[in-house]
Amino acid sequence: GKILVSGTSGFIGAWVARTLLEKGYTVRGTVRSDAKGEYLKKLFANYGEGKFEYVIVKDIEADGAFDEAVKGVDGVEHTASPFHFNAEDPQALIGPAVKGTVGILQSVVKYGYPSGVKRVVVTSSCASVFVPVTEPRVFTEKDWNYTSPKEVEEKGKNALAGDKYRASKTLAEQAAWKFVEENKDKISWDLVTICPPFVFGPIIHEVPSYESLNTSTLELYKTVKGERSDEELVKPVSNFVDVRDVGAAHYLAIATPDAAGRRFITSAEPYTWQDFLDALSASGLPNIPKGVPGGGKGVKHPILYDSSSAKTVLGLTFHGIVETAKDTVVSVRERGW
Ligand code: NDP
Repeated sequence: GKILVSGTSGFIGAWVARTLLEKGYTVRGTVRSDAKGEYLKKLFANYGEGKFEYVIVKDIEADGAFDEAVKGVDGVEHTASPFHFNAEDPQALIGPAVKGTVGILQSVVKYGYPSGVKRVVVTSSCASVFVPVTEPRVFTEKDWNYTSPKEVEEKGKNALAGDKYRASKTLAEQAAWKFVEENKDKISWDLVTICPPFVFGPIIHEVPSYESLNTSTLELYKTVKGERSDEELVKPVSNFVDVRDVGAAHYLAIATPDAAGRRFITSAEPYTWQDFLDALSASGLPNIPKGVPGGGKGVKHPILYDSSSAKTVLGLTFHGIVETAKDTVVSVRERGW
């Protein structure tokens, strides 16, 4: 089959494409420029002539942006969405997140069916799942982030950067489920959403400079460069998952019939930045700051996730922190940073 992957030029999108290619699928990626498309064509050349092709979708917010891209594909993986904490106007994130998601679904209804689309997978996030808590709580796929959209509605530009991003992901995923519900009589495909927490692991996409590394890799790298205080190193940060497991989750979401209509949290475990430093030291890599060795052990993590349905329904397994940490750093150092 042929799968459309939006945002193939991104950290996660490139891995989603690669995983599908490894499993024998043909992939059509969307990118914003020929240069990014050509980079990927070279990267994926070893999968065979014609196995990877790209189309340009410059603005995912434009009406009918994906109309051409969805023609002739059997499935869709929508990963494209802005992920950064630098937006002043929350609409700069919410616009492309929501319109991009609804737009690709509209294009599938118009042109992807009845020709072939059977499933659409949307890359959501744990950002659309958790709400702030003080006492430890295990979040499940039934949970929704109801606080970030409210924060943004009330505070607009003055909302926290994190809430602006998290609102964009929450509203986009909710819009996807609403679209499916409202169009259920018209559609013969189903929806799956994947909710990863912070994603780390080897980078394979094109990154022109250290500063333009994707947000999650850059966050980890600040730690590797020794830019965090001891106090910050031993605080609970979040939960992580390896990008290779996120790629696998997207492939499994297409290939598993029972995944239909489900939302999957794909989280390995909670971490402090010190846990990453300890993992990197244990991996034997040179030039890793020591920080406060062991300082992350026993830290109480307020936000925890239940990934059991990803394990049982999709059969997903997770990389451990040592492998994820090491392979991230090796891939960044390979580029000379
Ligand atoms: P990247 O920034 O590496 O990738 C984002 C991708 O989306 C790129 O291909 C980018 O294109 C594209 N994109 C962004 N905005 C637009 C736009 N307005 N129009 C067209 N294309 C756009 O980030 P990630 O790979 O980390 O993120 C991919 C997805 O995963 C996002 O949906 C994100 O919310 C989600 N996610 C990421 C997590 C993480 O920790 N990394 C955690 C949970 C979810 P271009 O290359 O041209 O900029």
